[in-house]
Amino acid sequence: MRFIDEYRDPALGRGLTRAIADAVQPGRRYHLMEFCGGHTHAIAQHGLADLLPEAVRLIHGPGCPVCVLPVGRLDMALALARSRPDVILCTYGDLMRVPASGGDSLYTARAAGADVRMVYSTLDALAVARANPHREVVFLAIGFETTTPPTALALVQAEREGLRNLSVFCNHVLTPPAIVAILADTADAPPLDGIIGPAHVSTVIGSDAYAPCAARFGVPVVIAGFEPLDVLRAIVMLMAQINAGRATVETEYTRAVTATGNRTAQALMEQVFTVRESFEWRGLGALPASALRIRDAYAAWDAEARFSMPPRTGREHPACACGSVLRGALAPHDCRLFGRACTPERPQGACMVSSEGACAAAWTRRPRL
Ligand code: SF4
Repeated sequence: MRFIDEYRDPALGRGLTRAIADAVQPGRRYHLMEFCGGHTHAIAQHGLADLLPEAVRLIHGPGCPVCVLPVGRLDMALALARSRPDVILCTYGDLMRVPASGGDSLYTARAAGADVRMVYSTLDALAVARANPHREVVFLAIGFETTTPPTALALVQAEREGLRNLSVFCNHVLTPPAIVAILADTADAPPLDGIIGPAHVSTVIGSDAYAPCAARFGVPVVIAGFEPLDVLRAIVMLMAQINAGRATVETEYTRAVTATGNRTAQALMEQVFTVRESFEWRGLGALPASALRIRDAYAAWDAEARFSMPPRTGREHPACACGSVLRGALAPHDCRLFGRACTPERPQGACMVSSEGACAAAWTRRPRL
C-alpha cells in the first residue's frame, strides 16, 4: 500500500540502522526525545529502540493528549456530569478510562448514573446536541493543535445553527511551549541533544513554529512521520546535525508538513480560541501561554463560562510516576506499579491508558515469558 509499505521496507530499514551506527562518534551519547505519543507508539510497535546502538537513547516525551491533562481538570468534568442531571458529557474514548481523583473515571461516573458518552469526533457531539434540544451537551475537549481545529469548527457550526445547548470544556494545549519547558528544565532529566518533532501537529502549525526552540536551546528538531523508516531517518538527520554542531529545524515528513502549516486551520483556531496566561500540565506544572481558551465572542459556548466549574486540585495515585515519565526523567518500567498494579486493563495512571502513552507503549514491548 502506498505511503505504508514503502516506509516499512526491511532493506531500507537495515540501511538506515547502519547509517545510525556509522554516525556515532567515539565517546559521544545521543539523547533524543520523541515528543509525540504517536512516535512512542511506532517505536514500540516496530521495536525500533532495539535496533539502535547503545550510544543512541530514545526518551519519551509528553505528546500524549490524555496523558498531559491534569487530574484536576478531569475532576472538574466529573463534578459537572455528576451534579447536573441535565448535562450530557461527551468526550473521546481514551479519556473515559483515565483515572481521576480517588480512582474515579468517566466510566465509573457513567456506571453511577451520570450521562457520559463517548464520541468519535466533534461532529458526533453536534449530533448529540441537535438530538437533545432540552439537555445541555458539554464536549470535554482535549488535545494538541491536531484536535483543536475540529473543536473550533464545531463551535462555528453551532453558532451558524443557533445551537445553544452545546458547549465546550476547553483543555486544548500547545506544543512549542511544552518543548521549551522540557528543554529549559534539566533538573531531573538528561539534557536532550535532539527532538523528533510531531507529525500531525506539524501539519497544522508548520515546521517554522519550532525555530525559536531550536535557536534558543541549540537543540535540533527533525519533524518525522509515523512509519518506522520515518523515525529511523529522522534519527539519522538529527545525528548529522548534532555531529556538525548545527541546531536547525528540518522536516523528514515532507509528504505532509510545510514550513507554514495549514493556514485555514490556523485561521479557524484564531477565530475561536485565544492563548491562556497559564495552564497546568500533568508532569510539567503550570506553563505560561501553553494552552487555549475560548474567545469572549464564543463565551455562550464555553462550558467554563456557562456552568459553575470551580478549579480542583486532583490527586493521582501516590505511587504513579506519570509526571516523571512525561518529563523524560523516568522510563515506564522505572515505576514500581508498571506491570504489577498498573496494566492497560487496570491503569493507575494516564500514561497506561492510551496507546500513545509511554507506559502503554512500553507494555506492548515487554518481554514475554
Ligand atoms: Fe503511572 Fe502506571 Fe505508568 Fe506507573 S506504570 S507511571 S502508575 S501509568
